[in-house]
Amino acid sequence: MKTITAQQLNAEFLKRKYAKLLQSNDVYPSRKNWKYIIENNMHELSDLLYRKYLLAINTPEEARSIYHNDTIEMFPQYLEYIDRRYAIATLYKDTSTNPSASIDLAINLHLFDIDGILDMLDRDEIRAAARMLMAMKPTYDANDLNDLLDLLDDFIELPDMGYYEGSRLGLISGSERYVCPNGHVNKDEVQYCTHPNCGLNIKGLTRTEVECIDTYTERLKILQELFSPKSASE
Ligand SMILES: [Zn+2]
Repeated sequence: MKTITAQQLNAEFLKRKYAKLLQSNDVYPSRKNWKYIIENNMHELSDLLYRKYLLAINTPEEARSIYHNDTIEMFPQYLEYIDRRYAIATLYKDTSTNPSASIDLAINLHLFDIDGILDMLDRDEIRAAARMLMAMKPTYDANDLNDLLDLLDDFIELPDMGYYEGSRLGLISGSERYVCPNGHVNKDEVQYCTHPNCGLNIKGLTRTEVECIDTYTERLKILQELFSPKSASE
């Protein structure tokens, strides 16, 4: 016969209470609440708690309360504790409120996820998606390779958002101009826009973001080598 312990009943009661309370923007879990939420693996609260985390981290440091600081400290622990599937579903649902915070979480907690990154591309968050490639899975197996390569293709095949104009096809070189995705006109045939605070290439990515794709490519090559029968027989 199914039995429910007093502790389980109380945890369920509190979970529902927290879910209601946390709907309000200015309500944050206390440190004690956080510990209880983590100990009882309350993954159902993940979306609400992620919202708190993003609100806290978007609050300027000097304006943060102890609740903001506790949230910034405890949410990553919570996310690491709950089942990885729930952590990924929560994280990739919002990668635009504070892209750097979301990417850092993914990198620190190994929350790389192909579908999540494809969703980012679908939402036109191309630059953040490229940076998200720096995250990894906790473990890889040979079956991952094709999907990882397909994801790389999606980045290689990103459409041009800027363009080059001038005598590119002519025999006499010079006068080539690069117009970046933001519409800045660069006199020379540069790869990255030289306009202050821009730096976009023809795909709409900065040098740093292209380097993330390069690192991902390099890691994939290494994975392929590590999984190749040749290295296995050695
Ligand atoms: Zn530009």
